[in-house]
Amino acid sequence: MPKEFKCKDLGMQCNFSARAESEEEVVRKAVEHAQSAHKMPASEETKKKIRAATKTSR
Ligand SMILES: [Zn+2]
Repeated sequence: MPKEFKCKDLGMQCNFSARAESEEEVVRKAVEHAQSAHKMPASEETKKKIRAATKTSR
């Protein structure tokens, strides 16, 4: 089942969302977005937050 991440789940006022078949792929896209749009570091901490906010969608 596909995974989905919504940036608002990180508490951002942002409409970005990422969907992919694997969690790894969603996290990769979301980290890229967090870096370029929110100046967040591509750190383990950021990945952890994103992973926690990533949900299985249907
Ligand atoms: Zn965002």
